[in-house]
Parts: sequence; C-alpha cells; structure tokens
Amino acid sequence: MILTNIGTIKEILSRHGFSFSKGLGQNFITNPDICPRIAENGNAREGFGVIEIGTGIGVLTAELARRADKVCAVEIDSRLLPILDETLADFDNIKIFNEDVMKCDLHKIIREEFSGLKAAVCANLPYYITSPVLMLLLESRLPVESITVMVQKEAAQRLCAKVGSRESGAITVAVNYYGSAKQLFGVSRGSFMPSPNVDSAVIKIEPRSTPLLDEENEKFFFKVVKSGFSQRRKTAANALSSIMGIPKENIYSALRELDLSETARLEGLEMEQLIEFSKILKKSMN
Ligand code: SAM
Repeated sequence: MILTNIGTIKEILSRHGFSFSKGLGQNFITNPDICPRIAENGNAREGFGVIEIGTGIGVLTAELARRADKVCAVEIDSRLLPILDETLADFDNIKIFNEDVMKCDLHKIIREEFSGLKAAVCANLPYYITSPVLMLLLESRLPVESITVMVQKEAAQRLCAKVGSRESGAITVAVNYYGSAKQLFGVSRGSFMPSPNVDSAVIKIEPRSTPLLDEENEKFFFKVVKSGFSQRRKTAANALSSIMGIPKENIYSALRELDLSETARLEGLEMEQLIEFSKILKKSMN
C-alpha cells in the first residue's frame, strides 16, 4: 500500500468515515520524498528504537519501521487506530500508544520497549504543540541520540537560529542549552493533505549528554533567560532588576566582567556569554 498516494489515502479515510481534525494539527504527508529523508536523517536504523509522535495514517511510521529495530508511536486520535491496523498490517515491530504525548511516559517506553537499543525521536509534529513537545523532550532529558522533526518553517528558523541573532528567542536559548539544532531541509505546503497555510522544515536536535550547568545554576539561568526575554526591549539591568529584584550594581558588575556594556540587552548575548553572565550573577548574590 502506498501511503503517500492521494487516491489511496482518500479511499481508506472515507471507508473509515474519517474527517481531518484541524485542532489536532492533522496534515498528512503526501510527498513521497519526505518520510524516507526524515527516517534516514533521524537514526532510524539497525540498533535503534524510534519514538514517533503522531502517526496519522502511518506513512512515516512505516518508513521508520522499515529501517529501525522497533517503533513506538504515540497517537492521540483513537479514530486512527483501525486505519493503522490496516495500513501497518505488514509490520511486527510497531507498537501504537493511544495517548496524548504531553501526558505519556516516554522514559518508560524507552526503558521497557527499547532494551539494548539506542533511541531516537522522529515526527511530523502537530504544529499547535511544537514548542511544548520539544521542551518536554529536552527538559525531561529523554535519553535519545536525536530528535528529528518537521515543524513550521518559521519555528524551524527560530529553533535553529544563532543565540544572540535577531531570529533568536527564549526557545532558541533553551534548545541550545540542551543540545544543538540544525535545519535539514524545507518542505513546501503542497506536500500535505490537507495543505496547511504555511511551509515547513525538518530540523534535527542532538541533545548533549552532559548538562552545561549544575542543577542550581541551571534553574537560575532559565529564570534569567525568561525574565530577560520577556522584556526584550529593556536592558538586562532594567529587566532583571524589575522582574527578579536583582540589585542593578550586581548586574552591571557581571556585565563588566564579561567586557559587555552596562546597557546590554540579554537578547543580544551569545550562548557562552549568557551562561557566563548567569553564573557570575548568581555567584555575586550568594
Ligand atoms: N505522521 C503523520 C504524517 O506525517 O502524515 C501525521 C502527522 S500530523 C501533522 C500530526 C499527528 O499528530 C496527527 O495524527 C494527530 O492526530 C497527532 N496528534 C495531535 N496531537 C497529539 C498529541 N497531543 N499527542 C499525540 N498525537 C497527537
């Protein structure tokens, strides 16, 4: 069964009385080049178990299962289960979890289902939860080699931007803190059914194996980033003193130690500068 064939998709969906849910971000891939490229770039290979988020009718699931030892796919929409029984009938290495990915214990799945295997995440993400899903995977330090996901083009640009550049935001800092992200390729809106109003891109995040900061410094770092980026136009000194109540003198002195201007804004700092700034600031307050 060719799951990118529009006629095939329409036939299966109508036979099962399935209608697309916009709210669940259901845009299924119809361009045959995309899923093999996601699978090949996303560590779907021997020795790997792959977690997929959102199966749709299983077009990417099948490509992953062809290459990896095992695929565990989380799909919230129970209407897709009878369809998947049909479309993925030829595979014996796929397990579907009918759950909300935001509530699902992915650590447990990796522990129990991928014993002896390395793990990776691959997905065409439902766009309404791109950032929460990525933050969940990264903050919970899911033990995976890579996270290869399709997201909206604009989200991809932000996620893969250089920290300190104009496109960068708090999420860019978070992704760079937990790992490194790069854009692999763009995907036009015509590659899906139904077509979304935006183009997409596939990105790959490789999480770091060791954290950049200890637990206390990490907590403080994210408070600083959140405060600084929530008031982007303000100088670091104004934003952090008003939101976190840090004395301005401590902020000025941390900036001076890094040869930065007292009027610097956090959004203009590079990753290493942000980390050092936060460390120096925290130390000055002990
Ligand atoms: N992988 C398929 C493809 O590429 O054709 C479908 C991708 S579609 C963009 C997103 C999928 O995620 C849909 O099947 C949708 O039902 C599912 N989904 C949406 N919200 C979800 C959630 N919170 N947890 C798990 N799956 C979800």
